[in-house]
Amino acid sequence: MKGKVYLVGAGPGDYKLLTLKGLECIRKADVIVYDRLANINYLKEAKKGCEFINVGKASSHHLLPQDQINRLIADKALEGKIVTRLKGGDPYVFGRGGEEGELLKAEGIEFEVVPGVTSAIGGLCYAGIPITHRDHASSFHVITGHLRKDGKENPEINWNALANMKGTLVFLMGVSNLKNISENLIKEGMSKDTPVAFVSWATRYNQRVVTATLEDAYEVAIREEVKPPTLIVVGTVVNLRDTLNFFEKKPLFGKSIMVTRSRSQNSKLVERIMDLGGNPIEIPTIKIEKVQDNKELENEIKNLKDYTYLVLTSKNGVDIFFDKLDEMGLDCRALANIKVCSIGAATSKAIIRRGIKPDIQPEKAVGESLYDELKDIVSKEDKILIPRAKNAREFLVKKLNEISNVTEVVTYESVMDDSKKEEAINALEEGNLDYITFASSSTVTNFINLIGEENKDKLSNTKIISIGKITTKTILDNGLEVYKESEKASIESMIEAMSE
Ligand code: SAH
Repeated sequence: MKGKVYLVGAGPGDYKLLTLKGLECIRKADVIVYDRLANINYLKEAKKGCEFINVGKASSHHLLPQDQINRLIADKALEGKIVTRLKGGDPYVFGRGGEEGELLKAEGIEFEVVPGVTSAIGGLCYAGIPITHRDHASSFHVITGHLRKDGKENPEINWNALANMKGTLVFLMGVSNLKNISENLIKEGMSKDTPVAFVSWATRYNQRVVTATLEDAYEVAIREEVKPPTLIVVGTVVNLRDTLNFFEKKPLFGKSIMVTRSRSQNSKLVERIMDLGGNPIEIPTIKIEKVQDNKELENEIKNLKDYTYLVLTSKNGVDIFFDKLDEMGLDCRALANIKVCSIGAATSKAIIRRGIKPDIQPEKAVGESLYDELKDIVSKEDKILIPRAKNAREFLVKKLNEISNVTEVVTYESVMDDSKKEEAINALEEGNLDYITFASSSTVTNFINLIGEENKDKLSNTKIISIGKITTKTILDNGLEVYKESEKASIESMIEAMSE
């Protein structure tokens, strides 16, 4: 049984510059082979158990030679696996995708190629440089700057033609050959004043653009320490950058922001940071562990007809309860004769999604408020089911039990998630973070538990953004400073505080 290979263009780096087809290939892969130019966050989209193979570690400069990469991909497919080969930009633009495809063909392995947004075009775009423009360039040429190592003239490059075609020139892999490039173009008649741009890490939060002229390009690149991966753009389209640069003007462009929330909650904040050009670093602090094979919950669901109230106090609690109903072959009709109470808006939203409008929801999402709503309507005859987290606050169950009959069933537990502990400590130590956000008092406590009291001081290198008064108090109680508290207790307001 032979597998199949997808050679997928992963785009230039911005997470959202991937095709729908590319995403589909990532999701169905058994093995993903990737290198340093493909955005590593795509791996999060892979299915459980997918094998990840990094064939180009930037840190060690230890690249697997191309023939070995070809072999690896073919071998995995011959094992019957679906292999997705993720390549930066487009697979066929100096990506050696052709060679990989040729070997697959020779071995009789089925493959497909998914084009990607090449850095040669998309990278320029994010630097505010249109690759063509009616007033500037009516053609463009994408050239490898990776010239022959023996110092001999590369016969494939016709410098005279390039210098005189008046098209935009984009050199990939050209940094180490820059001197050669600029000298050849000038020698063949290109104006010394032709604008040049160096675009490094294009479309990423750390994109950096340096401009020069053809004459001083080499000097400027040395002075400014221009390093790969960089696109070298030669042509007057570079002058449009001042007008067309939208990306670097985004309010959080270039900012690294640590986001500390439980994984299920932080997606909106992460999404907004990315939209505004920032680099979110997600550090989960707690995770939800469902009670496995929950016989107790099953029993109470079987006895639902005896209950008059169901009280739900979190989104997780709702999801676990309704998943269990579903598992038992039931649906929301099982709750037809029961009043459903929700602690607050987020919980209600989850209940509504399951086809039920909550009968009761207090304005403030706390146990005290829900108790106030219920205390005059429930009586000794009522039976109340409360499926909820282990170690939840006692108040609600205790007070309701005084006036009626409560059955509490533990359905999940919040436990420490230390999967990103090292990453969090390293990021704090490196001091490259612009902000760290805390969107609840408990995440402050959980985060400090996660990194350990002994590392707490490391937080003082970073500007702390708090969502509101209670969270601020917890931060101060820990001996830390708050850089800014958001005006309203909302994600959008936290974003505003940072954007200002
Ligand atoms: N297939 C890729 C190019 C691979 S060759 C594509 O279509 O984009 C590798 C070279 O591409 C790098 O040396 C650099 O010159 C360029 N490159 C790729 N991604 C880049 C990025 N995000 N920023 C700047 N240069 C990039």
